[in-house]
Amino acid sequence: MKEVILVKYGEMALKGLNKGTFEDVLFKQIKYRLRPLGRFGYSGAQSTIYIEPLEETIQLDEVICRLQKVFGIATICRACVCEKDFEDIRSKAVSYLEEAFETADSFKVEAKRADKSFPMKSPDICRELGGALAEAYPDVPVDVHNPGITVMVDIRDTNAYVYAGKIKGAGGLPLGTSGKALLLLSGGIDSPVAGYMMAKRGIKVAAIHFVSPPYTSDRALLKVEQLCAKMTDYCGDMHFYCVPFTEIQEQLKRRCPEEFFTILMRRMMMLIAQEIAKKEEALALVTGESVGQVASQTIQAMVCTDAVCKCPVFRPCIGMDKTEIIEIARKIDTFDISIQPYEDCCTVFTPKHPKIRPQLDAIEAAQEKGDFGEMIARAVAGTEMKTFRIER
Ligand code: ATP
Ligand code: MG
Repeated sequence: MKEVILVKYGEMALKGLNKGTFEDVLFKQIKYRLRPLGRFGYSGAQSTIYIEPLEETIQLDEVICRLQKVFGIATICRACVCEKDFEDIRSKAVSYLEEAFETADSFKVEAKRADKSFPMKSPDICRELGGALAEAYPDVPVDVHNPGITVMVDIRDTNAYVYAGKIKGAGGLPLGTSGKALLLLSGGIDSPVAGYMMAKRGIKVAAIHFVSPPYTSDRALLKVEQLCAKMTDYCGDMHFYCVPFTEIQEQLKRRCPEEFFTILMRRMMMLIAQEIAKKEEALALVTGESVGQVASQTIQAMVCTDAVCKCPVFRPCIGMDKTEIIEIARKIDTFDISIQPYEDCCTVFTPKHPKIRPQLDAIEAAQEKGDFGEMIARAVAGTEMKTFRIER
């Protein structure tokens, strides 16, 4: 039996956005993700995209799996294609829905008729098909108020479609419809989650990572690259910038009070990240910080870091507990990579007694002594970029 995939995006998501752009971007994203699986026919109507596999070998499970990682999709349904003829709809529905009826405790039928020339009206379709299904599956009663499954009949221009049940999509907005941001990606649990959360709101994410060889190893960098590669599942193709940070950290150690290391280091990171953001045409920075999690994540510390930022800094994990962040990290499959025990440049240079409530003027004075201007320019100049692409 021929099947298609119906992808629905919620009208809610269209509020305040240009609907045309939203649809175009979503279409493009879907096509890009599915292209490696074979050829498909696409059509769209009324907040639904119809995806028809044009090759026998295409596995619909794999199609659905990929679609579940495309932001902007509210629900995904697998439907059976019927002639626009009630007899065909009836006979196909009875056999196509066999599996769904095996586990259902009750059902109802809903019909939608985009093609008003179809000879039966929606209530007639519901009644007739409901009767046929009740006859075929006598153990499953009709319940119009609280049905176990809802059988949908969709009468469109060229075909009719029958389906039951829907799969939850990734939600959010299509990538790129909200602009671009640069994610400060460490090897930890939080920053990949932060990137995912911003991507979900339609922000195209690029990543920047700071390394301090020989204090940090090649293996630690490889871990972050693995994270970035994994993030492309949801975030699409990603630019990854690797910044040489050793010179700055050594200077910090030489010239600045130890209790300020972390804050100063974060300010340096922000200054460099802003330069890269300009090149990348990203309008905001993103971090994985959560308030109170560590010494550098107090409000006072954030005041001191943000004082060097001319662009907004998004911290989508800010109000989350570690357990909530971990839950998302598991869902997006970054958790197991993040917990590999490799050092980060932050941890290598962690002071024994960091200043928990730093004062901005003291921090600024300490930074003066470091004379970091040229080092920052060298770090920016020495930054290398790589592109990670979604798995083909
Ligand atoms: P994460 O789990 O994301 O590593 P964390 O709780 O360990 O966060 P910190 O080490 O204080 O917290 O880092 C806070 C944020 O600073 C990170 O979420 C990340 O956005 C950024 N960051 C830290 N280290 C690096 C690095 N080496 N390169 C790029 N960004 C970094
Ligand atoms: Mg960390």
